[in-house]
Amino acid sequence: LGVFTGFFYKPPPTTRLFRDAGMILVTGGAGFIGSNFVLDWLAASHEPVVNLDALTYAGNLRNLDSLQGDARHVFVRGNIGDRALLDSLLAQHRPRAIVHFAAESHVDRSIHGPGEFMQTNVQGTFTLLEATRAYWATLTPDERGTFRFHHVSTDEVYGSLAAGAPAFTETHPYEPNSPYSASKAASDHLVRAWHHTYGLPVVTTNCSNNYGPYHFPEKLIPLMIVNALAGKPLPVYGDGRQIRDWLYVKDHCSGIRAVLARGRVGETYNTGGWNEQANIDIVHSVCALLDELRTDPAGPYGRLITHVADRPGHDRRYAIDARKIERELGWRPAETFQSGIRKTVQWYLDHADWVADVQSGS
Ligand code: NAD
Repeated sequence: LGVFTGFFYKPPPTTRLFRDAGMILVTGGAGFIGSNFVLDWLAASHEPVVNLDALTYAGNLRNLDSLQGDARHVFVRGNIGDRALLDSLLAQHRPRAIVHFAAESHVDRSIHGPGEFMQTNVQGTFTLLEATRAYWATLTPDERGTFRFHHVSTDEVYGSLAAGAPAFTETHPYEPNSPYSASKAASDHLVRAWHHTYGLPVVTTNCSNNYGPYHFPEKLIPLMIVNALAGKPLPVYGDGRQIRDWLYVKDHCSGIRAVLARGRVGETYNTGGWNEQANIDIVHSVCALLDELRTDPAGPYGRLITHVADRPGHDRRYAIDARKIERELGWRPAETFQSGIRKTVQWYLDHADWVADVQSGS
């Protein structure tokens, strides 16, 4: 695993060998979904990855431990807002695609401090688009045609759905309600505009809640697992009846690969698990699995559930209509919620050291 910091970045000589074979640039590839994507990508393809990540609190190089010594993965520590670094990386590696995950991603943090969200999600995406546009102009006509900028976004941009209302399609109006979703909505609009105005070949995926390995334990599912194992309260916002669609992270990764390979330029694809559930039901599922896999002599884990004051502006329901990605690209999730959540709980039980490192901040 080659690690380079942006300021001192000097292109590693090995990656030049790969130029003719093509390579992709991933941003945010040390985070939850990005690291799963990089691992899946390199398991399925020989195409190298340059992984640009600022390593904020959410980025974790340990997620990529299994790539140590693998010359197909070049890690660069740097910020998507650093135009000089972007220009240098693009000129040197000449990627045939960019997959853009890097973002501030936690709604609660966006409520307490929205500034970082505007900086990374809006300004950072703008800087990345501008650097990409300049680089794209240097490509041959053939290369320009096959190049892709894949923007990874969220279903939260569509706002909250009433009970019984049809699930979000790609033409649903944007009605973001939190600083996080507003910043992601802004980035979606920038990506769209760079296609319509400058012709940049973009694709966007708007995905529902992910869960799976390497999920930072501030988000619902890993927080419940980690707190339950520590005998701590399981905090549930309000009545816990907020409904989300849940997708196993590796299914999201396969959806991104499908859109990158075969998606129509300028289109957006809603990606979801056909799996709407209330938060409280998710928590009960996690507790039931833990009761089975790591029985607590003190009693069922559900005893630790504690309702806390609801999050301000908390959206009541999200639901994804994923028919377009299935119809056009043949993508469907491989995991059911039952199979995915079992794998996830088992992963956390098997990776106590990863959890301990994340919690200690090391
Ligand atoms: P995450 O917070 O786990 O990871 C984000 C990564 O981006 C981290 O590694 C962080 O170090 C890096 N990063 C942050 N700011 C950066 C910057 N300025 N420059 C470079 N790197 C930076 O997030 P995640 O859950 O993996 O989400 C990845 C993407 O997918 C985000 O764009 C998010 O909006 C989107 N998304 C997430 C979900 C979900 O359920 N987690 C669902 C749909 C869409």
